[in-house]
Amino acid sequence: MALTGLDIFKKLPKTNCGECGVPTCMAFAMKLASRQAEIDACPYVSDDVKAELSEASAAPVRKVTIGAGDYAFNIGEETVLFRHEKTFVNPAVFGVVIDDSADEDTITAKARAAQDIEFERIEQKLRPRAVGIKASSGSAEKFASAVDKVAANTQLPLVLMADDAAVLRPALEKVKDRKPLIYAADAGNYQALAGLATEMGLPLAVKGATLEELADVSDKVAAAGVKDIVLAPSSGDPVESLKDLVQIRRSALKQKFKPFGYPAITFPGGGDADIELAVAGIHLMKYGGLIMLNELDPARIMPLVVLGQNIYTDPQKPMQMSEGIYPIGDPKEDSPLMVTTNFSLTYFIVSGEVEASRVPAWLLVMDVEGLSVLTAWAAGKFVPEKIAQFIGKSEIAGKLNHKKLVIPGYVAQISGELEEEMPGWNITVGPREAGDLPHYLKSWSAN
Ligand code: SF4
Repeated sequence: MALTGLDIFKKLPKTNCGECGVPTCMAFAMKLASRQAEIDACPYVSDDVKAELSEASAAPVRKVTIGAGDYAFNIGEETVLFRHEKTFVNPAVFGVVIDDSADEDTITAKARAAQDIEFERIEQKLRPRAVGIKASSGSAEKFASAVDKVAANTQLPLVLMADDAAVLRPALEKVKDRKPLIYAADAGNYQALAGLATEMGLPLAVKGATLEELADVSDKVAAAGVKDIVLAPSSGDPVESLKDLVQIRRSALKQKFKPFGYPAITFPGGGDADIELAVAGIHLMKYGGLIMLNELDPARIMPLVVLGQNIYTDPQKPMQMSEGIYPIGDPKEDSPLMVTTNFSLTYFIVSGEVEASRVPAWLLVMDVEGLSVLTAWAAGKFVPEKIAQFIGKSEIAGKLNHKKLVIPGYVAQISGELEEEMPGWNITVGPREAGDLPHYLKSWSAN
């Protein structure tokens, strides 16, 4: 049962010394209760209280770190079933599986591709985050050699996939400092694999043909001392895998069922590449943590990582672009100038239509805390005085041989006042809908 802020406050020293970074013990208790602080920030609580509070304030889905260094990532730590209840915490990540029986060139090429694929969207770098190596050969030597080759060609965290501890050990010895995930313990091998995981301090995936079997193996592996567990429900059938993932998350959050209080790894592939893409999207939404694909085609990865970016945002904080001048299509001094707000969806829709028009243009994006045009206007953030200040500060005039500014059609009512705020400028009202921009821009003239 989660403790309230008041429960936590009762266990703190109540000296209000401020060393934890907030002025009072009560404020610190509130932060702990909402998981915005760590108990270690207070140097004055006893070890017993620390252990009690850490346990009580831990997320019902454990955070598991895979990898080491700059490329390490966290999965789990979730507290809600639906994003709108609060927010999701650690984004689901994608990886690719490489077969150790593939030829050396294929292994190298796949590892390098995983390292090199990267997209930038809303000022975030989106990329695959893990590489799995599967011991299809059954040979410890071949597996270790494939792991070696992959490790030399990518810095991404690794997932070492074999059922036999004797096959896993030589490969793990080579890369254990990179903190790979071991995949996977089952009812038959859990003792040997749990031994490897505890000996090397590595996370361990557990699998089961049914949820009952999965819970049983998870329980046994935890009893053997493994703390960082990743659940691998059977993912052969798309519908069954979705049901299992939902059941696991519900059991962890609603029933506090400990054996399912861990993030999940899924394998949505196994046949048609389009089906793999669709199932990966479903697993991303509910409730895969690490989703391993058979291939990393950039055209398929792109929609998945964008979907992930949209889901794993804080619904209380709109996604925003940075304020600034965005040139679209190599604009010149006589190109049109438009202004809009920094709500990322507004930016993408407007910039997409401008690009589609093939008319090079300057787009000024104004910081209004991520609100859309009408909302920002209603909130007093996208109003003539502030727009005029922003245009002056942007120094866009130095790039133009005209003084014509296009404002969004939804705020046509501010055009007169804006013209008064910007002497010498000609304010024109653009279309209300971004879809009408191509037609509008094609007939726009600087004269
Ligand atoms: Fe209270 Fe500890 Fe924070 Fe000091 S450091 S204010 S004792 S919670």
